[in-house]
Amino acid sequence: MTSPVWHPFTQHGLNEPIPQVVRAEGSLLHCADGSTLIDCISSWWVTTHGHCHPRIVAAIAEQAAALDQVIFAGYTHEPAETVARELVKLAPPGLDHVFFSDSGSTAVEVALKMALGYWNVVDRRRTAILVMEHSYHGDTIGTMSVGERGAFNRAYEPLLFDVVTIPFPAAGCEQATLDALDAACAAKPAAFIVEPLILGAGGMLVYPAWVLREMAAICARHDVLFIADEVMTGWGRTGTLFACEQAGIAPDIICLAKGITGGAIPLALTLASTRIFEAHRSTDRARMFFHSSSYTANPIACAAAAANLVIWSEEDVLGRIATLVQGVADGLASLDGAMFANPRQCGTIGAVGLVTEDSGYLSSLAPELRGFFLERGLLLRPLGNTIYVMPPYCTDAGQLTRIFDAIAEAGAHFA
Ligand SMILES: *Cc1c(COP(=O)(O)O)cnc(C)c1O
Repeated sequence: MTSPVWHPFTQHGLNEPIPQVVRAEGSLLHCADGSTLIDCISSWWVTTHGHCHPRIVAAIAEQAAALDQVIFAGYTHEPAETVARELVKLAPPGLDHVFFSDSGSTAVEVALKMALGYWNVVDRRRTAILVMEHSYHGDTIGTMSVGERGAFNRAYEPLLFDVVTIPFPAAGCEQATLDALDAACAAKPAAFIVEPLILGAGGMLVYPAWVLREMAAICARHDVLFIADEVMTGWGRTGTLFACEQAGIAPDIICLAKGITGGAIPLALTLASTRIFEAHRSTDRARMFFHSSSYTANPIACAAAAANLVIWSEEDVLGRIATLVQGVADGLASLDGAMFANPRQCGTIGAVGLVTEDSGYLSSLAPELRGFFLERGLLLRPLGNTIYVMPPYCTDAGQLTRIFDAIAEAGAHFA
């Protein structure tokens, strides 16, 4: 009998294999058929330290037995208080208020609502949102609206709101992006939302920290709220805890999710500046922030996030990341330039374009590559002809060698 499960981003009509995973540890996934896979993309960019980190597993078990769930409107609990307090210490200065939700998409929705809510109080005319070309911010209606338009969301186009798009700052064309942002800011939009340093789902497109710094400065000059979507880049992925650190900027709003629990359980946070929080604070109930979901700040998820913060403070996470960054750099350098175009790296993330005619996201190349890697014991999921790695930080040298050897082999086979 076929399974009733409808999988995400999966074309069931193609009958591609769907391995069943039964157990995981570190960088490894163990499947029901007895095979073992290296998780080269951190299970869709969430797993940071490695699967089933003992401290996170223990925190979840302990919290589940003590307080599983409680309404968060008007009630609080220690795991949420700890996460918020500790995170504010680590975040860029001025981001002193923490709003909880459940996924990267909801963290972004909350950020957009906070920005509009802010301007609603101080200046009703600002509602437009500026976005960057090739961005991805999630799959809900609001987050699709601020993301790249294409095959993924064409059917839903009538529901998406209009945004103003500035070009991606490709190497050599950075000034055009800054000029476009400056011009767009002059029309007094509400906010600019951007993925700092690297655009993930848009194809692992990187741009330098100085461009990020300049974009933040332009927004500040025009008093346009700057929203950093660190859903993917947060928690060490770009080599520092947050990508914004590398530009020395403090956004008005930061969105966090994915690695916040080490990748064990869903949780998301939207950090807001005092100015945004204070605009909503009043004795007038009509000015409260109108957002919630049933499981806002679930205690078990918060306990996992608190354990993640302990790992960051007590273990040498940045040391492990530095080793991985070097390993990824060596792996990329080992690939043959004739078969792979535009090798690029942002911290622990490495990407190359496979030189081939057949390259769109919907072409058969990506699933063929996926199958090729699966046969070699690797979970890799190329974006069109872009092959990228984003391994958990515990991935060792031997595993990296296996990963890059297989990518080289794919080059010889498909390029
Ligand atoms: C994954 C991602 C999201 C959406 O997060 P979900 O938890 O999948 O909803 C938003 N923004 C960026 C930059 C992402 O990479």
